[in-house]
Amino acid sequence: MSTSIVWLRRNLRLDDNRVLVRAVQESDHVIPVYFWDTDHLSNQCANRLGFILESAKELTTTFDSAGSRLLIRCGNVAAELVKLVKETGATTVHIDRNYEAYEIKRDQDCKKAIAELGATLIEIKENVLFDSGEVKTKEGKPYTVFTPFKKSVWERITTESVETITPKDLKPAKNISSFESHSLPDLAVLDRSTLSPERIQFGGSNEAETRWVIFKETGIKNYKAHRDILAMSVGTSKLSPHLKYGTISIRKLAREALALSQDTDSAEGANTYINELLWREFYYNILMSFPQVEHSAFQKKYDGIRWQHNDIYLEAWKAGKTGVPIIDAAMRELHETGWMHNRARMIVASFLTKDLLINWQEGELHFMSWLTDGDIAQNNGGWQWSASTGTDAQPYYRIFNPYLQSKRFDPDGEYIKRYVPELKNLPIKFLHEPHLMTPLDQASYGCRIGEDYPFPIVDHYVQREKAKAMFEALKERL
Ligand code: FAD
Repeated sequence: MSTSIVWLRRNLRLDDNRVLVRAVQESDHVIPVYFWDTDHLSNQCANRLGFILESAKELTTTFDSAGSRLLIRCGNVAAELVKLVKETGATTVHIDRNYEAYEIKRDQDCKKAIAELGATLIEIKENVLFDSGEVKTKEGKPYTVFTPFKKSVWERITTESVETITPKDLKPAKNISSFESHSLPDLAVLDRSTLSPERIQFGGSNEAETRWVIFKETGIKNYKAHRDILAMSVGTSKLSPHLKYGTISIRKLAREALALSQDTDSAEGANTYINELLWREFYYNILMSFPQVEHSAFQKKYDGIRWQHNDIYLEAWKAGKTGVPIIDAAMRELHETGWMHNRARMIVASFLTKDLLINWQEGELHFMSWLTDGDIAQNNGGWQWSASTGTDAQPYYRIFNPYLQSKRFDPDGEYIKRYVPELKNLPIKFLHEPHLMTPLDQASYGCRIGEDYPFPIVDHYVQREKAKAMFEALKERL
């Protein structure tokens, strides 16, 4: 009689879980476990911890209802896993393949530790449609530019490659109820100072499914036109942390979006949505093939940029007090909700690196301190793209004009008014650039620049030239 442990990490669901399916196929008994990894989780922000706790708690109930039992173990993962293998006599441990340096090292340590007990760790691709071994250039190299990567994936992405399978019998071990299970920490213990007061993304597969259904019914059709409008309520799916922690399956989203792409009304939106899922695939592939990006520029030469360190600018950016309304609205959205719109992420990242001339790694770190969907591969990819140090194929240095972006993507100023209430009485002609108001305007709209709302901390047009010079100087030094 063979027993397998299924260690759930970034696949916190029962449906369409290939790790579970494989374990059920390959063993007589299956023991699912979630480890509350105290080493790793102590570095995660409260928004993500809240999401994980909600997901793991719901999963416990889901396994119960399916006639099995999800064990919870808290502590050092390798030590806890060894204990569990000894207790259960398991000969295999099935896991989903993870790609961050910490996760890779952790899994190698676990593999070694359980090998001493005669047990094998079996890794299964689960969090992506394709991993780095599967999508290669004609020369057998990893893609480093998105467009050809996307083209190649589109050629392979058939409904078959994203087929959904769900285990029928979970084959719980007969004595599963006798194994020790710890309690997960209570949400109340999370550090309130880093927990967003108006969180909008909550964990669990039920929440993911509800969001997905609403998005399919009301959002996907107009996704291409609406996905950049900052104030749009169902403009995007907001499923990002669900994809990160696997409370919904990437294959399911791809399969159902592919089906919608056959429908004339939804085709444009569904195709655009799939393209966005492929950005996620692309950045995981980049991290797999170029793990050094976790600590340095994708294009090595850009580690030589002489970024300027300025605590006052950095703190103003983090606090949403730069005097540039679109930047302040976005940074406050991040703190208040734990999410930031993709367009806003690009605008604030460009502002930090090209207007404030601050190293993208400061921004990357700050995002990881708040984002519920904070994920090394995606966050790093997004920051490096914005800082022009990454995989972006542009021959020039992309610099966003925050005022033009603001007028284009928040045309009615609804987003700014939502997050920067001190500007809510301003007419639209001043909302994007309140510093252009005369003293008379300021008095009549009840907003004094420099007192109720700051002057812009920098002049975009001056800083833009400095950013270009900073990149040019590097070119000359090389
Ligand atoms: P939707 O528009 O509904 O898109 C569907 C899914 O596609 C998303 O859930 C996401 O998984 C993926 N996706 C969409 N856009 C992108 C993109 N540009 N790059 C990669 N994947 C994408 N995404 C994260 O998941 N975690 C991060 O830590 C993260 N950090 C970012 C930092 C910067 C500077 C930038 C510019 C982007 C970052 N992104 C990150 C990508 C993107 O902003 C978010 O995935 C998206 O805003 C999530 O909202 P959504 O689920 O409503 O997206």
